[in-house]
Amino acid sequence: MAVERTLTILKPDCVRKNLIGEVTRRIQEAGFTILAMKMTRLTKDTAGGFYAVHRERPFFDELTDFMSSGPCVPMILEKENAIADFRELIGATNPAEADEGTIRSDFADSLGENIVHGSDSVENGKIEAAYFFAESDVVANRA
Ligand code: ADP
Ligand code: MG
Repeated sequence: MAVERTLTILKPDCVRKNLIGEVTRRIQEAGFTILAMKMTRLTKDTAGGFYAVHRERPFFDELTDFMSSGPCVPMILEKENAIADFRELIGATNPAEADEGTIRSDFADSLGENIVHGSDSVENGKIEAAYFFAESDVVANRA
């Protein structure tokens, strides 16, 4: 299996619920290495840019309102098979359908407010990581 990177965002609901520590602990316990991490706040426009593929979807306005509603914590994570393994760790988009013990099943309130983002492919992970971080941020944080 190849070593991959994925981009996660601890979403504003995760920050509001004081779950940064618990979710980060689960991510690290699952074997992901944090290569870059910061707290930031998206505007409605920058949230829209991040989720540009969903621009025509009916939930786009609700999604960009939510993602700009408070601070969030993007991170670049590295691990073997990171893309698929991270999606497994967080569970299905809709927490009601997420497997027991996944982050979304345990902490998310709704389909919209679902605690974490995870990239859906290596290619999109690169684009998403570049949305928040410079490559020099990653190098600087190598242990
Ligand atoms: P995922 O985050 O699991 O990759 P998607 O890429 O399909 O899911 O959607 C991006 C985000 O948009 C979801 O995580 C969720 O916050 C929001 N979302 C998706 N579908 C809906 C919906 N039907 N209603 C409200 N929000 C939604
Ligand atoms: Mg997605």
